[in-house]
Amino acid sequence: MRIELAGYNVEVGILERLDAADKDILTPEIFSSAYARISRSAEDITTLRKIAGHDVKKARASNRTIIFGMGHHSVAEHAVFNFDIIGVSRLALEEIESFRLASYTEKSQRYVTLKGDYVQPREITGPGTKDAFSALIGIQNDFYKKAYAILQEYNFKKFPGILEQKGGRRELQNLAKEDARYILSLATEGQVGMTINARSLEHLFRRFFLSKRTEVREIGRKMYDLVYKIAPSIFLFAQPSQFEKDLHETFKNNFSIEVPHNTSLTPKRMKLSKAPLAWGGDKPLRGRVCGAKWLGAPHPRRRQVAGKGENKQKFLSNETKIIDYPKNADDIILASFFAIYNSLDFAEAYEIAANIDAAGKKRIFLDLFKNMEFFDTPPRQFELPDITFQAVISASNFAQLKRHRIATLIAGDYKIELGNIIPESIRDCGLEGEFREIIEKTDALYLKLKEEYNEAADYVLTNSHCRMVIMKMNLREVYHFIRLRDDVHTQWEIRHLAGEILAKLREIMPYSTMLLCGKSNFVQEYENIYRKGVGPI
Ligand SMILES: Cc1cc2nc3c(=O)[nH]c(=O)nc-3n(C[C@H](O)[C@H](O)[C@H](O)COP(=O)(O)OP(=O)(O)OC[C@H]3O[C@@H](n4cnc5c(N)ncnc54)[C@H](O)[C@@H]3O)c2cc1C
Repeated sequence: MRIELAGYNVEVGILERLDAADKDILTPEIFSSAYARISRSAEDITTLRKIAGHDVKKARASNRTIIFGMGHHSVAEHAVFNFDIIGVSRLALEEIESFRLASYTEKSQRYVTLKGDYVQPREITGPGTKDAFSALIGIQNDFYKKAYAILQEYNFKKFPGILEQKGGRRELQNLAKEDARYILSLATEGQVGMTINARSLEHLFRRFFLSKRTEVREIGRKMYDLVYKIAPSIFLFAQPSQFEKDLHETFKNNFSIEVPHNTSLTPKRMKLSKAPLAWGGDKPLRGRVCGAKWLGAPHPRRRQVAGKGENKQKFLSNETKIIDYPKNADDIILASFFAIYNSLDFAEAYEIAANIDAAGKKRIFLDLFKNMEFFDTPPRQFELPDITFQAVISASNFAQLKRHRIATLIAGDYKIELGNIIPESIRDCGLEGEFREIIEKTDALYLKLKEEYNEAADYVLTNSHCRMVIMKMNLREVYHFIRLRDDVHTQWEIRHLAGEILAKLREIMPYSTMLLCGKSNFVQEYENIYRKGVGPI
């Protein structure tokens, strides 16, 4: 066993003290490049890391090929950046901290007495309005100071016991800040220390590029300028796609309900806008971005199952089972759009969604997906329906499935009763008998070892041995999973699993899964739906 410390983050002031020549090679791209090459190189990781460090130019070229050409974006996650974000509004902090896959530590309004610093929004420039804005912030801040002083005294009187304790005074002061801050505006300045990997950061750039707020767009731009020069080869998709650019307008067209201001909404009074659908014969071909030629491929070969015992046969004959899903996923997604866009109670929004006829639902989803490319992710509303499935899979399949980190994955132990997955090619080459014999020997020794050494016996099992998994993914994750795994480049067993899930979900939630397919089938699916009119119901 050898475990090497490969790197750690170093404060930028220390890095700046290095010579210019040394600085050139100080890029986290080295980790992305070295780790990306593990997959196909016979060299060990440490050697690959050293090679990458010695030839940064080549490392960058390799990153571009692997991330852009081959679509393996996860290698960018090995590069991590730290940012001191200072003097930005609370509103901007909300947008910054909306990225789940990053780390934050924010200056607290509970523990720090604020001095009244705030961000003057660039947008508010009109004669009189800029001053009115500042004046109002001044009033809010004055009240904060006044309320803080009064609330302190109030707390000292209310909690004399705490006041006498060590640190009690500070605690009661913090309590006062906690309540006084309710009057502070969202323009109030804050600070956050942020650690984020390059993949999440690229996502941030795309989202911030489209932000409705100048301040947020500027934050995105500044962060991009800081890191792009250091690690150009891992920021390849910093601009939003057409799908991302159009989403806001698409949402507005489909989900805003026109009602007079300040009156309560009822489903009867709502007016669904009839936005014209912009698909047709002039649509560019999907999948052009990587320059890849996506060819449809026949479905992966079915697996052979070998093993003993009734249970195994019974379970495996049922294949992958969807064990839990919302019966109304399409309506839940639509309802969440209606609720958010119109500030409706969810039950009311749901009623609106459920009352839309099949053609109307289809029309909305067609409009939602119209600019989608194979690399686009559906909006967060697609995270609401959860899909849980159960399957018995080989260790080989599990090695791939487990990489989908966001999902809930529960795995049972490897059990010889669950049988083995034997590749069809082994049978075609006349090797099946020998394979089975080895499995039998393996199982026999496994049983012996198990008695004496418990879990250590698992070491003798093979990649063909099976375990049961129960996995839960939301529909947005399923989109990502199917794009990657029901694809021509994907290993046959996990592709088979993905194909089964896909077929079942298409029946259960026909509209929201309209463009659910592997990367390699995307062009064809898109053509079928938008040009030939073939698709769900
Ligand atoms: C054909 C093929 C070949 C492959 N070959 C190899 C190989 O040789 N070696 C190997 O190690 N792996 C390999 N993989 C696995 C691949 O690198 C991914 O680890 C795996 O597909 C999981 O995908 P993911 O990271 O995109 O998504 P998930 O883990 O399913 O996550 C879903 C999404 O969440 C986001 N996300 C999740 N975690 C993070 C994070 N920490 N930071 C930023 N964003 C995040 C991303 O947007 C991601 O797309 C291969 C995959 C395929 C399809």
